[in-house]
Amino acid sequence: MKTPRIEGLGRNGTWRNWAASSIAVPQNISVPADEDEIIAALGSANETGSTLKVVGGAHSFTPIAATTGTLMSLDRFSGIIHVDLSTNQVRFKAGTRLRDIGRLLLPYGLALANMGDIDHQSLAGAISTSTHGTGLGFTGFSGMVTALRIVLPTGEVRECNAQQYPELFQAARVGLGALGVLTEITLQCVPRFKLLAREEPEPLAGMLESFVDRVVLTDHLEFYWFPYTQTALTKTNTRLPENTPVDPVPWRSRILDDELMGNGAFALLCRLGAKVPATVPSINKLAAKALAARTYTDQSEHVFVAPRRVRFREMEYAVELSALPTVFAAVRRVLESCPERITFPLEVRATAADDTWLGTASGRQSAYIAVHRYAGEPSSEFFKKIEEVFIHYGGRPHWGKLHTQGAGYLASTYPRFDDFLAQRDAVDPSGVMLNEHLGHVLGR
Ligand SMILES: Cc1cc2nc3c(=O)[nH]c(=O)nc-3n(C[C@H](O)[C@H](O)[C@H](O)COP(=O)(O)OP(=O)(O)OC[C@H]3O[C@@H](n4cnc5c(N)ncnc54)[C@H](O)[C@@H]3O)c2cc1C
Repeated sequence: MKTPRIEGLGRNGTWRNWAASSIAVPQNISVPADEDEIIAALGSANETGSTLKVVGGAHSFTPIAATTGTLMSLDRFSGIIHVDLSTNQVRFKAGTRLRDIGRLLLPYGLALANMGDIDHQSLAGAISTSTHGTGLGFTGFSGMVTALRIVLPTGEVRECNAQQYPELFQAARVGLGALGVLTEITLQCVPRFKLLAREEPEPLAGMLESFVDRVVLTDHLEFYWFPYTQTALTKTNTRLPENTPVDPVPWRSRILDDELMGNGAFALLCRLGAKVPATVPSINKLAAKALAARTYTDQSEHVFVAPRRVRFREMEYAVELSALPTVFAAVRRVLESCPERITFPLEVRATAADDTWLGTASGRQSAYIAVHRYAGEPSSEFFKKIEEVFIHYGGRPHWGKLHTQGAGYLASTYPRFDDFLAQRDAVDPSGVMLNEHLGHVLGR
């Protein structure tokens, strides 16, 4: 059998994430075929006083998956284990990629209730960082988890749900890869459905004023704002029954808007903006104007996700939904006063509250503001200034996106942070699953 490639691992043994914002040289590579091989790899990391990290799709911007110890991939743990059609709960192998789930669920007439912008991630990676999409009636992936199976750093295997090891279950629903190796995940799925998508430019001022009301009235609403313009590009998705005929994006629009403007020409514009920053405001006005309104209907998984071929760095914070207009205005003020000229649009989304311990929407309806910087430009100074705004408003950083927060601040914004630490300390006293980044984040 061909050994699966570990995402991000080069021929020279250097691993880098999608954005190349995290680079490491792991000492050992492990692509286990079963739980016994996972237990053996953890045992050997324990014996040698080394560390072990699992990598999924390598799509986190932070070094959360980086290690100089053993880098493990669960790409051999892919597919469905069991479907319960009476509850629509589906047991997946934890390494299953999101891009495969639509096809896997098709024979059962089921789908994921919601998705983010891309589908390259593994299921375990997505839940470990509280990955989310948009829609006030829906949680992120972790909120859909009803049970999971985890191999602890000691080699013990735990089957967890709300009744069995409930504390470990709550911690591991957003476990940051710090508690052990997830091998199976049960998700609450829904009957398959179509989405009617409407994408259109709107005045930013009106969008900001109405966003908090409109997210209540729509199934899935998000908007993009190209800095220095007065325009928001909105995307509104309405859920329709599965028997609705599809009317997909015409190929000309797919090539012109998605591939050319969204990726190819946009890459050229980003490169131009990086070389001649003074051109950025005009570039952004051009980009905002070029994207025309369009309406289409397709299978949910085809509408939720979009190609992202231009590499960027990203920071995203979750804030109280009601605070969105105030926080966005403060972010805008700081962004427009920065010397850096920002080509990438900001993205705004919202989700329901969930009951996980470390979910970014834990216990509160949340709006998300994401800022990006083209990968060819330095991002840390710019992100630092924007991050101060988010912190001022009690924001919670996305666990997979760039941020500088440590345990002190995080404990103040997550009521169950100490409970999470207690679980971590109990299951991994010697820190096998830690790395430098997690050491800072968890204060360990
Ligand atoms: C282009 C792009 C678009 C994105 N869009 C969105 C979006 O729309 N919404 C959003 O919320 N986020 C988004 N993200 C962020 C992304 O969803 C998260 O960072 C997610 O964790 C990536 O999944 P992954 O499989 O690549 O995980 P990795 O980055 O490989 O790993 C993330 C964490 O999960 C742990 N992990 C992985 N597998 C296991 C396992 N089996 N057991 C235990 N721990 C494990 C790792 O050790 C690490 O701690 C985007 C990122 C990129 C680059």
